[in-house]
Amino acid sequence: MNKDEFVSALKELNINLTDKQLSDLDTYYKMLIDYNSHTNLTRITEENEVYLKHFYDSLTIVKTISLDNQTLLDVGTGAGFPGLVLKIVFPNLKVTLVDSLNKRINFLNLVIEKLQLKDVKAIHARAEEYALKNRETFDIVTSRAVANLNMLSELCIPMVKLSGCFIAMKADAKNEIDCSKKAIETLGGVIKDVVIFSLPFNAGVRTLIKVVKKVKTSVKYPRKFNEIKKKPL
Ligand code: SAM
Repeated sequence: MNKDEFVSALKELNINLTDKQLSDLDTYYKMLIDYNSHTNLTRITEENEVYLKHFYDSLTIVKTISLDNQTLLDVGTGAGFPGLVLKIVFPNLKVTLVDSLNKRINFLNLVIEKLQLKDVKAIHARAEEYALKNRETFDIVTSRAVANLNMLSELCIPMVKLSGCFIAMKADAKNEIDCSKKAIETLGGVIKDVVIFSLPFNAGVRTLIKVVKKVKTSVKYPRKFNEIKKKPL
């Protein structure tokens, strides 16, 4: 997906990028490649591929929600996908990026500083520990490519405000959804929408699972990661 194709595909999602946003994404891409040459951030490095599989893919979240000035947490953001891309394209969002690997947080802080982004912070923490002090805090919690849906739900749903939502960004997830319904309910959520689509250029199936928080999560959750892994809900 070259940049013209990227801009056109986004118009179909009702996203019209400004020149500044395109230039910020270009700077972000260059910094990603530069940092990736010495510190592993992503195996996708070819420019057209980054625009499709990282930038465009991150923005497909708008298929399930309209983004304005909500608070958004990205769990296991890695090199900033989807959270940092969303911040660049939806500047009114208040974004928190969390990752357990500090080298990724260091990279994100360099990009945040270079682009002079406001209302965005990158935090070095494990989600299940960060959740202990940030229960029911965010309008939207999202996560892409971090864990199976039932484990991911325990990491994310406790931090969603009542009536807020958790949006899991997945590839093919039919089996995972079937196996996670009980966990989601236990954590106070209910699946409100499942959007399945293909990325342009046959780049693969994607599934967005939108969970709305109906009931406060019991303080029993999230548990320690070993327990979540050993005995998923
Ligand atoms: N979301 C990014 C993306 O889609 O490109 C990164 C995905 S990468 C496969 C998974 C990331 O989740 C890694 O950066 C890893 O450090 C982070 N991670 C895994 N478990 C985590 C946890 N419990 N809390 C915070 N971050 C975690």
